[in-house]
Amino acid sequence: MAAASIHLNAGTKRFLDEPHRLLINNEWVATDGGDTIAVNDPATGLQIAEHEGASEADVDRAVAAARAALTGPWSKLSPADRGKLLWKLADLMDQNAATICELEVLNNGMPMIAAQLGSTVFAPDYLRYCAGWATKILGDTIPTSRPPMDPDGESLVYTLKEPIGVVGAIIPWNHPGSMMALKLGPALATGCTLVLKVAELTPLTNFFMARLAVEAGFPPGVINVISGYGERAGAALANHPDVDKIAFTGSTAVGKEIIKASAGNLKRVSLELGGKSPVVVMPDANIDKAVAGAIPAAFFLSGQNCMAGTRLFLHARIHDEFIDKLSAGVGMLKVGSGFDPEAFIGPLISERQRQRVLGYIDAARAEGADIIVGGQATGERGYFVQPTVAANTTRDMQVVREEVFGPVLSVRRFETEDLDAIAAEANDTIYGLSGSVWTQNISTAHRLVKRIDAGQVSINCHAAIDPATPFGGNKQSGWGREFGKEGLQPYLKTKAVSIML
Ligand code: ADP
Repeated sequence: MAAASIHLNAGTKRFLDEPHRLLINNEWVATDGGDTIAVNDPATGLQIAEHEGASEADVDRAVAAARAALTGPWSKLSPADRGKLLWKLADLMDQNAATICELEVLNNGMPMIAAQLGSTVFAPDYLRYCAGWATKILGDTIPTSRPPMDPDGESLVYTLKEPIGVVGAIIPWNHPGSMMALKLGPALATGCTLVLKVAELTPLTNFFMARLAVEAGFPPGVINVISGYGERAGAALANHPDVDKIAFTGSTAVGKEIIKASAGNLKRVSLELGGKSPVVVMPDANIDKAVAGAIPAAFFLSGQNCMAGTRLFLHARIHDEFIDKLSAGVGMLKVGSGFDPEAFIGPLISERQRQRVLGYIDAARAEGADIIVGGQATGERGYFVQPTVAANTTRDMQVVREEVFGPVLSVRRFETEDLDAIAAEANDTIYGLSGSVWTQNISTAHRLVKRIDAGQVSINCHAAIDPATPFGGNKQSGWGREFGKEGLQPYLKTKAVSIML
């Protein structure tokens, strides 16, 4: 057993040994003709569990459960009671934080600190944030200008905000616990029901959290959790005629498939997709702070994160000093198991992903970039790649243009101080998710922010995430926003009510 050398708490061990099935109608049921899928520890490459992946028939069952629940006891709950259930789930996550973190590290490979911050601090905080919104979903009263139908009459017009219905949520493997909270929070706060399709590589934390949701007391059918292959279970959900909305986080390529699949019944679709975010360092920046920020921006979760700042633009005046400090800093990052408290770079999710990332590094070399740090696979087992810096890159290189989703940072030098020209370089990508600007000049900062085409741009920090701050992408990074007040809108529909008085 892969986890044998690691000291796991009793709850985690018990959970690992139990069967991992499908949660439909608050019951863990066996698949009807689905797939048996292995679950690996990416730090060792060894199998730690197996689980059942949903078939088309399972997806039908799960959607039917969610549809029935939409008009069942769930719809009679007050908004305050919906909020209390979300809050209860968050409390249960707090109580089970140790197991959640261990499952995240074991199944995804992320460092323990990333599991703690993401899945046991941020995720329950976000559920509580959404719990607060449940009682604050308001329509409008509309003063109309055209005369009412009866010339002597008066009218009243108001809007109702109603749950959009059955949500099909599809999440990736890069941060399973927080991704689940991201989908549950707004769907449940608004009164929707959902079928959550988790990533087939990392179902364990999600199944554990699903148990907590049952324990919290959500009525049967409100939260259904299935795993399964994307092209089977995911596609069946995206195509399903009785699903009203798809909320998807994953790659841009699959996002485009989701859009096509959704056309059948014109589902509403929100997409949080890939990125290739710029980090722009101006000559007046505080170099030490910018180096300290650029490193986690690129290498958090081994670069397996959509907001990663993977295109670093350095002004020529500070380029060499920055590169020296960056190389020293990246060279010191420890690569290792997420259970090693000193490791910052965990394994990649799979051997396939490791080969993909190594392919990008080879291409960068072949195209003339200088690999000044890292550049190799590492470790006796597991899917590790050294944190890698490719310097002296140019705009056409593959490593600059494509999302690597691994620990690879590309660096470009720029000479100009013309902000339009700098922004044109920063925007020279199909993506528009995030970005950051490093300068001590407040005017330069805000001018550059206005010119960068991305859903969130930070000044002297990168990708600061908060439940209240809208997050999402422009261009091919997605449709819609998550978090904040805006994050609820994709889960609501508006009904206008006109009354002759
Ligand atoms: P990543 O490249 O980060 O794995 P993907 O976009 O491949 O991201 O996967 C994200 C999620 O989408 C996973 O749950 C996966 O199973 C699912 N998925 C993959 N292909 C499809 C598809 N054709 N239709 C629906 N879901 C899919």
